Amino acid sequence: MGTDHPCVVVVGAGIAGLTAAFRLQQAGCRVRILESQPPERLGGRMATVGRDGFPVDLGAPLLARRYRRMLNLLAEAGASHLVTPAADELAVLHGGRTLRGRTGSLPRLLSGGLLSTVPLRHRLRLLHDVRNLHRSIGSSATSAITPAQHESTAAYARRRRFPDTVMSHILDPLNATMTLSDPDRTSAATPLLTLAFFAAGNGLFTAPTGTGFVPHALAQRLAVTHHARVTSVEEAKDHVTVVWTSPGDGDHEEQADAVVLAVPPDQLPALWPQLRQDQHEYFASARYAHLLQVTFCLNRPTSETAVVLYAGRHDLPQVAALILQHNLSPDRVGHGRGMVTAYLRDTTSQDWWHDDDRLIARRVTAAVRRAGLLPELDSAVIATHVDRIWPSVLIRPPQDPGLLARLEATTHQQAHRVHLAGADLFGHSTTIGSLTSGEQAAHRVLARLGAGAATA
Ligand SMILES: Cc1cc2nc3c(=O)[nH]c(=O)nc-3n(C[C@H](O)[C@H](O)[C@H](O)COP(=O)(O)OP(=O)(O)OC[C@H]3O[C@@H](n4cnc5c(N)ncnc54)[C@H](O)[C@@H]3O)c2cc1C
Repeated sequence: MGTDHPCVVVVGAGIAGLTAAFRLQQAGCRVRILESQPPERLGGRMATVGRDGFPVDLGAPLLARRYRRMLNLLAEAGASHLVTPAADELAVLHGGRTLRGRTGSLPRLLSGGLLSTVPLRHRLRLLHDVRNLHRSIGSSATSAITPAQHESTAAYARRRRFPDTVMSHILDPLNATMTLSDPDRTSAATPLLTLAFFAAGNGLFTAPTGTGFVPHALAQRLAVTHHARVTSVEEAKDHVTVVWTSPGDGDHEEQADAVVLAVPPDQLPALWPQLRQDQHEYFASARYAHLLQVTFCLNRPTSETAVVLYAGRHDLPQVAALILQHNLSPDRVGHGRGMVTAYLRDTTSQDWWHDDDRLIARRVTAAVRRAGLLPELDSAVIATHVDRIWPSVLIRPPQDPGLLARLEATTHQQAHRVHLAGADLFGHSTTIGSLTSGEQAAHRVLARLGAGAATA
């Protein structure tokens, strides 16, 4: 250890941890990343795994061109050439009728009549609320703490006196996509942020190897130790002790000048017992949705051209959203092929969690058929995969935004040698939120150690 080239341990090789590590290494630190999962799961909830020759994302299929920090980081990691422009058509099924829009700007979003079932006066209210969130996309670490945070999606719809169609056609599908959960369990910021993502995202990008290309580009330049599960972190005056365990190789202990903990917040209380009582209670209360993700690999693209297909509860009760990966770009899954991913809702996922994979896939195919969608799931499937993803996305409940902001500020201000990273700590589950918070954690580490140049 020593402050010329401080030694920093980063726990977690998701996008938050990898970003923190990349920035710290750039600033001259000696960095080691400890990751509990094997190399093929690099990137955490941004990992892409190979299945029958199809690159299947285990999270985060949609990356917005407004994610400037991500594009900058990719350029610095020498991976800009992999960035592939993506199509961005969205489709929402309303009682047998499909409405369409495109991401990037409000006029594009509305051009296909995506909100046409919403009376003008309510559309303007909704867009007013969304516009207030625009700046949070692509810039904020925590993906926005907003006034809408203190009320549930259901309560927000009542306060704004929206007719039922606004809930069933817009807020519920958007809320379900972001949290896989129900409108009375989540803060109203959730669907508004999702709409803002589509309205202000400036279009989408992808890569032929799937979303995992981002973590891989960073990790190529970093030292990542896989199968290393950190079990405790203890801060002393002049160092931090990290204990980790590896299957077949026992316990390890090492000391570092600083540690970045970039793991889901509900794991923090067990890992780092020195948390204050209020932090301990807050992080322990974080709740994640269960996600059964069913991927259909197809021998041809679908006739449906949308990238994301939403249906309300009435049309497709078990499915929160369908992602048509091949429509992002012909390069995404290979020319002449198709890949459709169904995200099941939290409640359905929990009910079916222990069921047989083939049974789950058959149920999803039947539900999609009943909704009159995607006939290719009956005629063009060459392989099906079911992934059980937990933790998936945070179910952010309604919370007092003032309290949350104070907790966030004191947590970061009072951190000395142990720093936290990840959008889920105080915001919503997004790749850009985690990336930005990784940059900010690196910045705080450098400032506290008095080393290197500030990066964020
Ligand atoms: C299905 C799905 C779809 C999504 N869609 C989008 C999208 O379209 N766009 C978007 O921007 N975002 C999306 N998200 C959200 C986004 O993927 C996540 O918010 C983001 O990737 C989280 O990054 P992170 O680094 O904070 O956490 P993680 O990716 O969870 O990384 C944490 C890492 O820490 C490791 N770890 C945990 N405990 C330990 C330990 N004790 N010791 C060592 N290692 C440990 C984990 O294995 C993991 O690799 C989606 C998420 C899911 C699940």
